[in-house]
Amino acid sequence: MQEHPETTSSEKPEAPRHETGLAGTDAVDKNAALEQRILADPGRFRVMTGDRPTGRLHLGHYFGTLQNRARLQELGVESFVLVADYQVLTDRDVADNLPESVEGLVLDYLAVGIDPARTTIYAHSAVAALNQLMLPFLSLVTVAELGRNPTVKDEVAHSRQASVSGLMFTYPVHQAADILFCKANLVPVGQDQLPHLELTRTIARRFNARYAPETGIFPEPEALLSAAPLLLGTDGGKMSKSRGNAVALADDADQTARLIRGAKTDSIRHITYAPATRPEVSSLVLLAALCLGRDPREVADEIGTGGAGLLKRTVTEAVNEYLAPIRARRTAYAQEPGFVRSILKEGNERARAVAEETLDEVRRAMGTSY
Ligand code: ATP
Ligand code: MG
Repeated sequence: MQEHPETTSSEKPEAPRHETGLAGTDAVDKNAALEQRILADPGRFRVMTGDRPTGRLHLGHYFGTLQNRARLQELGVESFVLVADYQVLTDRDVADNLPESVEGLVLDYLAVGIDPARTTIYAHSAVAALNQLMLPFLSLVTVAELGRNPTVKDEVAHSRQASVSGLMFTYPVHQAADILFCKANLVPVGQDQLPHLELTRTIARRFNARYAPETGIFPEPEALLSAAPLLLGTDGGKMSKSRGNAVALADDADQTARLIRGAKTDSIRHITYAPATRPEVSSLVLLAALCLGRDPREVADEIGTGGAGLLKRTVTEAVNEYLAPIRARRTAYAQEPGFVRSILKEGNERARAVAEETLDEVRRAMGTSY
């Protein structure tokens, strides 16, 4: 599903304004232009994203990618969401409590408005043909390219294992298979995923050049970043479900208050929004602003001399109010026994059919259809 050439109509609908922590205006402009193309013709796009079932989804996921996924689904963009169960094993020996984590992940999806009737929700381990794509893809990248990946380096640094497994090292190639199995051309992700996306684009380009130079098989997918491409956790590092620094969507109001009260700030009393120089404070301001639907600078100005105490109270109230309906929906879905399983069963079947079709095309292109 390649994207068609762009039109240049001056009547394109307004893209949402982004007050991002993105480095450089080029990235901001590129993202805004992509938003315009999506709004102008959502039917040209196919979305694929996913999450590792390593714990409950958190505010970083929500404002980094989940909100965009739900919005794109509402715009009519065909969507796939992957429960990346094999990738749990990239940084640990055993995937503890996997069934519970998978169930929780799907409940989080449902709670934020991902609709299984319109979005295919499926798991790695259930889609053999997807995983098989990894073999030709591995042949298209060099060991040096894999070694240079900054996100892999960061994940290795936080890994629970003493040494790096082959699965960790080849994780971005697996992600290329995740994205390309359904020929997705749009991937709403957080900033940490950009190096992976670049590699997926490289793999798509090299595969096409080597095996299908006339027609091409794979699109070069684009990353779509949100207004919060890197939300920080309570310790000032990337909010992450495996690093104990996250406010989970499923936490209750009291837990949320406690976690935010303990969040790292800095020693300057006057609150400002300055992501480059005051990352922790600015991430909290941004979080409140996103929940309140307001400009982060305005929120910071209002708090001003109220200091970190008022900032944290503002964030807590805004987050709890914003998440209340999401939390209520999650609780309601959790009471429907068998519902999550039935969603996965159906999603896995749909994904298997798509993956088989792509693998057949790949076999024909590589001369391995016997
Ligand atoms: P883990 O610690 O187990 O790796 P994680 O919290 O990093 O978990 P992932 O499953 O690796 O979550 O990421 C899923 C998606 O959420 C990716 O698109 C990623 O970019 C996005 N994401 C995760 N954390 C953040 C964050 N703090 N800010 C913005 N986006 C995020
Ligand atoms: Mg991660």
